Amino acid sequence: MSKLRAAAAGGLRRSGRRAVSPAGKSRKGALLCGGAPASAPAPPPAQHLFSDPAEIQALRGNLLAWYDKCKRDLPWRTLAATEPDADRRGYAVWVSEIMLQQTQVATVIDYYNRWMQKWPTLQALAQASLEEVNELWAGLGYYSRGKRLQEAAKKVVSELDGRMPRTAELLQKLLPGVGRYTAGAIASISYGQATGVVDGNVIRVLCRLRCIGADSSSPAVTDWLWDMANAVVDRSRPGDFNQALMELGATVCVPKAPLCGECPVKKQCRARHRVEKELALASQKLLGKPTPVPDVEDCGVGDCPLCPPAAEPWDSSLGVTNFPRKAAKKQPRAARTATCVLERRGCHGAPQYLIVQRPSSGLLAGLWEFPSLPVAQDLQEEKQREVLADHLQAWMGQPVAAEDLQFIGEVVHIFSHIHQTYVVYSLPLAGDVTLDPSSSQSRWVTEDEFHASAVSTAMKKV
Ligand code: SF4
Repeated sequence: MSKLRAAAAGGLRRSGRRAVSPAGKSRKGALLCGGAPASAPAPPPAQHLFSDPAEIQALRGNLLAWYDKCKRDLPWRTLAATEPDADRRGYAVWVSEIMLQQTQVATVIDYYNRWMQKWPTLQALAQASLEEVNELWAGLGYYSRGKRLQEAAKKVVSELDGRMPRTAELLQKLLPGVGRYTAGAIASISYGQATGVVDGNVIRVLCRLRCIGADSSSPAVTDWLWDMANAVVDRSRPGDFNQALMELGATVCVPKAPLCGECPVKKQCRARHRVEKELALASQKLLGKPTPVPDVEDCGVGDCPLCPPAAEPWDSSLGVTNFPRKAAKKQPRAARTATCVLERRGCHGAPQYLIVQRPSSGLLAGLWEFPSLPVAQDLQEEKQREVLADHLQAWMGQPVAAEDLQFIGEVVHIFSHIHQTYVVYSLPLAGDVTLDPSSSQSRWVTEDEFHASAVSTAMKKV
């Protein structure tokens, strides 16, 4: 059994976990047994693995010492460290992890504090309405996260007696919306389970530490990264170790200009070694000295499943940022929506605006918006006004003349997968307007009420 396999097996046995691929298949045969099964691909060369127990120990020690000294003071970390009640602790970490998905720490802090103040326990959240959840979540993006969090809280209260599952396996299995990463984070940070986590920051750090240049979003590389994360996680402080790895990726080993000189694990970093070696070779050459034979440990292109593809080899000008690599992102699709800000005078003469609720599933589910209608990219202006006027008529219950709509301008908002253009019109309703839609899916609001409602950032831009 190789050293990596021994290390991985030790860690996995102690934590009672098995390495499971995202597809749910066990890779135990490939990593933990003495020899790969006939059909399994051969393990990658040692330079991509953590195969030396002393090196793993040094990595853990250096990273944790740095984390103890340099970690950012964040409200969820304080709760994770001080909350004595295990269910509350797990809940506090869970909320932070869901909010932090796709969202910057600086943005999340205020939302997190307000959320925990309003719903400090699972029980409190389970009693909230979806409308309240959407209101608090407004502006944080990816709105289904809040909805799913609340649904899962209801489930814990009604089906699990209010008790949070204590292991990553159970968290992932029992809680809707909790994937492998979130489950690992909650279990290691709240309950001390020795299980690794893999998120964008961890991918970057691990790929650089081990010179992994194959597509880091491919299932095979993802599997290797999870195995590595499970193998290197510190057994006595798994939660701190995982947070340290993520913190390193967020503050030091950043995507574009990593601060290698300040990095606590630079001695264990093979990307950094490679850069240093190249610099040394270059200066030898400049001085006219004989250059040493390349290190046989350096992986070539060949068949290595973790090296950069042959068509895109190591680029000296990129240094450590040669890693990680991803397949080219799909371009977001373009979409166009006509929207109208309908304005009336309220009881004290203050302007009020009509907002309507979106369907309860799909993009921006359940959020409020100005009456809006998707339109074809090439729809002519005149036709666009007509269809929008028809749409408004359905909400208002009275005829709307297309020529009364005033074109204001266009607003662009980028969702993760959609490049959305809103074509904005306005329609001031003169006189004593008595419109009062009885549907619960529409209401008149003042500007302040609009901002306090569950409306998306895109609508605020409009
Ligand atoms: Fe990242 Fe540089 Fe540290 Fe390597 S030495 S882990 S590339 S910051």
